[in-house]
Amino acid sequence: MNLEFKDKRALVRVDFNVPLNENFEITDDTRMRKALPTIKAILEKGGSVVLMSHLGRPLKKLKDDGSINVEKFTLKHLVGHLSDLTGVKVKFCPETVGGQAEAMSADLRPGEILLLENTRFNNGEKKGDKDFAEQLSVLGDVYVNDAFGTAHRAHASTAVVADFFAKDKKSFGFLMEAEILNANKVLNNPERPLTAISGGAKVSDKILLLERMLEFVDNLIIGGGMAYTFFKAQGGNVGNSLVEEDKLDLALELLKKAKAKGVKICLPEDSIIADNFANDANSAIKSNMEIPDGWMGLDIGPKAVEEFGKVIAESKTLLWNGPMGVFEMSNFAGGTKSVAEQIAKATKNGAFSLIGGGDSVAAINQLELADDVSYVSTGGGAMLEFLEGKDLPGIAAIEG
Ligand code: AMP
Repeated sequence: MNLEFKDKRALVRVDFNVPLNENFEITDDTRMRKALPTIKAILEKGGSVVLMSHLGRPLKKLKDDGSINVEKFTLKHLVGHLSDLTGVKVKFCPETVGGQAEAMSADLRPGEILLLENTRFNNGEKKGDKDFAEQLSVLGDVYVNDAFGTAHRAHASTAVVADFFAKDKKSFGFLMEAEILNANKVLNNPERPLTAISGGAKVSDKILLLERMLEFVDNLIIGGGMAYTFFKAQGGNVGNSLVEEDKLDLALELLKKAKAKGVKICLPEDSIIADNFANDANSAIKSNMEIPDGWMGLDIGPKAVEEFGKVIAESKTLLWNGPMGVFEMSNFAGGTKSVAEQIAKATKNGAFSLIGGGDSVAAINQLELADDVSYVSTGGGAMLEFLEGKDLPGIAAIEG
């Protein structure tokens, strides 16, 4: 974040899309806290900050009369807590762009913070509308993007607005820099062996990622619901486990590709199976080629835990995406927990570990192991797309 901030207004895109309860109280402020280093650094360098973010999907959840449910989606709900977190009395503008926003922005003194209303109250945001982006751009002298979670969207405030700033007037914030740096540790010259651990519900969600992984990993561990498609494709009986019938050929193709590329694929040898999709179902341990009809695999079994543990322990770089089982149910969370603990142990022994995307992030937080791995991405879909090798509009707009 090498910009000159003294006496400048920094227009900063943050991801303040935080969960609120029915009383509009913030139930998890992680995203706000992650943006603090950037905000504080700008203030310390003598600048002021104009913050913009989206919150929820206001244009998808209109009131019965077709108007925006301002009360539900207003960023005003965040003003008090943001003031507490920053130690600065945050000003709030009830519009995102326009005369009032311009006047309030022009009035800012160094050290002050202005929070604009929800960017998604405006049709132009998701469309990446140029006029709307230009109206946003006049609210700052420099532009900083610290919203990695929306970097894969070519929206007005995340990408298009950057076109209105010269190269030396725009930058990533610290969070965005950290996300890119850590993803690149896996993608560019990683220490080997490099092991990707993929899990979660469906092969179809992860096809691009799996294909891309085959290009550069040494080992690919596949767990979770998506493993059963691979067993069924190889002639196994997987009972009522999650299977994507239309992905059987693709699964075989991926196995063939892996072989051709010399990538070791580790599928779970056994599963904890259940006679019902419920925490209190009857359960048993079974080989994944012989799951009886009426039973389904809901977690990896003890042999798989041991085998996966060995591969993880021997790895120097680890990338984990997706849980090993239905970790939301305590009786089927053991495999995910073991893998998380093995990753933490390998990290302690010197490996670099990146936890990227959705539910593995939730799992590592639930297990309170976030501090025991190298980096936990805030990125979700953006991190997945980055790892898949796609150009993210939010990154391209700054690097451009
Ligand atoms: P994803 O968002 O693709 O990472 O998928 C995460 C979801 O996959 C979680 O909600 C898990 O409960 C679910 N999941 C993991 N393993 C299984 C399984 N064996 N059967 C059904 N769902 C699973």
